[in-house]
Amino acid sequence: MQELVVISGKGGTGKTSLVASLAALAERLVLADCDVDAADLHLVLSPEIERREQFSGGSRARIRPGHCSACGKCLELCRFGAVAFDGPGNGRVSKTYRIDAIACEGCGVCAYFCPEEAIEFGPVVNGQWFISTTRHGPMVYARLGVAEENSGKLVSLVRREAKRIASERNLDLILVDGSPGIGCPVIASITGADLALVVTEPTPSGLHDLNRVVKLTRHFGIPAWVAVNKCDLNLSLCEEIEGRAAEQGLSVAGRIRYDSTVTEAQIRALSVVEHRPESAAAEDIRQIWTRLEGVLRERQREPLRVIS
Ligand code: SF4
Ligand code: SF4
Repeated sequence: MQELVVISGKGGTGKTSLVASLAALAERLVLADCDVDAADLHLVLSPEIERREQFSGGSRARIRPGHCSACGKCLELCRFGAVAFDGPGNGRVSKTYRIDAIACEGCGVCAYFCPEEAIEFGPVVNGQWFISTTRHGPMVYARLGVAEENSGKLVSLVRREAKRIASERNLDLILVDGSPGIGCPVIASITGADLALVVTEPTPSGLHDLNRVVKLTRHFGIPAWVAVNKCDLNLSLCEEIEGRAAEQGLSVAGRIRYDSTVTEAQIRALSVVEHRPESAAAEDIRQIWTRLEGVLRERQREPLRVIS
């Protein structure tokens, strides 16, 4: 079993569209949408949900107004500015303290030191995760609640479930739509993966983001390939990106030409290789997949060495 994770330095590079096409081209795979802050692979793959679970990635404090003596200890101790003196009164005091659920970081200090034991502290539901069936195979994905954090934990959970399914059903490939950027969720998306495909665009920010992502993949020892989406928007920058990738020991998986059929496919909830297999973008993506499939096969026989 091999795990290929598709990542990008920022959102909006066409990463998810590419993953949807790779899912259509690959066989015997399980999909994992690890872009839990903005999961959208399900919009293209129209999954049927088989199992739905709550996700709890942390705890939170809540003051019980009836028990608060308004001593102010929690306000004094909270380092996250989550406590305000605007709670309702009770029989003893005209106003109590209140904790802002969004600002609370769940450290638990206030609950530990409250002299009245007026603060409840316990796990909260931060999101949901799903096991589903798509036309290309099983898919695990998740949705983090609004303003919720701990997406790194949720990403790890999604990957773990995808791995379990691949192992139980004897599938060959785990195809991961990774989180964009270089933060905790993307680290959780790539650690331990067999191969990373970095999707970028020929823009100055694309070049800058590529450098950051490449540092990350090298740090974690993940062999990485680069694909330049909408390459013909700026061919000289595209060449610069490919040159920079080569300097850093990365291989170029290919270029994808700008193609309006990609948007048409999205509107029809299809990947471009399904919607217009004869289109320029579909042709380019097939070539990229042929290269990656070869690398994955090779790796199955003999693990790749990473240049550090
Ligand atoms: S520490 Fe406890 S009793 Fe004191 S203000 Fe906070 S919640 Fe109220
Ligand atoms: S749990 Fe921590 S972050 Fe939340 S209100 Fe209490 S002290 Fe502040």
